[in-house]
Amino acid sequence: MNSLHLKSFIRCKRKAWLDFKGKKSYEVWSPHKAIEKINQFQIFYEFCNSEIYTGLKACKNGYQGVIGLKIKGNLFQNINAEIHPQLLVKTQGKSIWGQYKYLPAVYKLGHKTTREHLFDLAFSSVLLGTFQESKIEKGLVISSFDKQVNVEEIYLNKKLRKKVLNVLLSLNECLEGFMPEITQDRKKCTICSWQKFCDKEAKENGYLTDIDGIGSKTASLLITNGISDTQTLASHNEKQLGEKLSKFNDQKYEKASVFVKQAQAYISGEPHRIFNKNDTNDLLEKTSPGFYIFDIESNPDNKHDFLYGFLEINNLFTKKEDLIYRPILNLKNNKRESHKQIIEILFSQKEWPVLHYGETEKVAIINIAKNLNLSFVEIDSLVSRFIDLHSLIRKSWILPLKNYSLKTVSSWLGFEWMQKNVSGSKALYWWIQYQITENEIFLKKIIQYNKDDCLATLKIAEYLIKNQLKKN
Ligand code: SF4
Repeated sequence: MNSLHLKSFIRCKRKAWLDFKGKKSYEVWSPHKAIEKINQFQIFYEFCNSEIYTGLKACKNGYQGVIGLKIKGNLFQNINAEIHPQLLVKTQGKSIWGQYKYLPAVYKLGHKTTREHLFDLAFSSVLLGTFQESKIEKGLVISSFDKQVNVEEIYLNKKLRKKVLNVLLSLNECLEGFMPEITQDRKKCTICSWQKFCDKEAKENGYLTDIDGIGSKTASLLITNGISDTQTLASHNEKQLGEKLSKFNDQKYEKASVFVKQAQAYISGEPHRIFNKNDTNDLLEKTSPGFYIFDIESNPDNKHDFLYGFLEINNLFTKKEDLIYRPILNLKNNKRESHKQIIEILFSQKEWPVLHYGETEKVAIINIAKNLNLSFVEIDSLVSRFIDLHSLIRKSWILPLKNYSLKTVSSWLGFEWMQKNVSGSKALYWWIQYQITENEIFLKKIIQYNKDDCLATLKIAEYLIKNQLKKN
């Protein structure tokens, strides 16, 4: 058992078990993990004034920061454990190495210090204290906001140490037992390297949390009402289900109807059209003069939109290879220059609507327009041209899918990305690689990815329009 298992265990018991005993061939490489590692190193490097070295020798030499050290020890009489401290920071004191000692430090993404950070520090302090023969009173949580390094000191008191020892006992028990159940909170799965493996099992077993809109709380409520899997849900009477969903107040019948239809679609593989909305009529009409598809790639941690991609569609019958795609790079976050280009494009075809998938693009355009001091009237008319296909498809269709992300919906429609196994976080990973290496190959990959995202959005627009035509 080691500190990585502890980290996983706090997120999901099953993940800790799979990390320890799972078949590695089922695990998929996660860009999130890689991004976290790179960010972590950069911040540690800055915090230690570039004095970071690896391994035990670095401790003996008394360097300011030490990474890559693994320390084995005994937790209880017969439980062996190993810590992999993210960073050791030199401080005043006395240890086996001389007139100094080390404190454990962890990296934090975001604002909140969680149990994961506290337990990691407490676990490290137990084995590191024995190893360096010097007691550790505190640990550090290091983070970065707006390019400023922040440090929080955490006092590792008795209570916290006791708590972590109890968690470690449960972890040990878990690792020795059978594979735990899939977590109820499936949001955690979106960035997990075992997602594919667990998704397969969830679908086979008819997990209710596979149904869009059903989270852990609604799933428990349904289970207590005798609806324990998707099959039972799909065959349930909508009205009777509505009675059981009183927590949704006025929306209970509407919710019940969507859950049942979503479960039916998921099992049958057939989409269900919601006919009482006429939004797709609008789409056909509005796109007839031509339209743009707009998609942004960004690094949310640095609030940096590094690529704005526009696809121009004169009409739906144009061959894909003849469509004009314009990528606008914003490499140095020199907003004004790229923003002007964007507004120029948008104003060159004032009648054209701008199709996008999700809220991000519209919000970004409002900010761009404000930064360029456009008048309220101009901003209003610009914003009114934006059509969010994500919200539109949700209003007009129930699809046989687990979620309505761009990747899931367009893949179901048969769209294939030129590059395999891509995602927004993979694009962010390439962006970070580009910033470190300045190798243009990463930019090319990002641009190709963004172009494909635009084409995937186009595929969804075509589906909405085509099916409307069929109806008429
Ligand atoms: S995919 Fe979800 S259930 Fe499976 S290990 Fe990861 S977090 Fe746990």
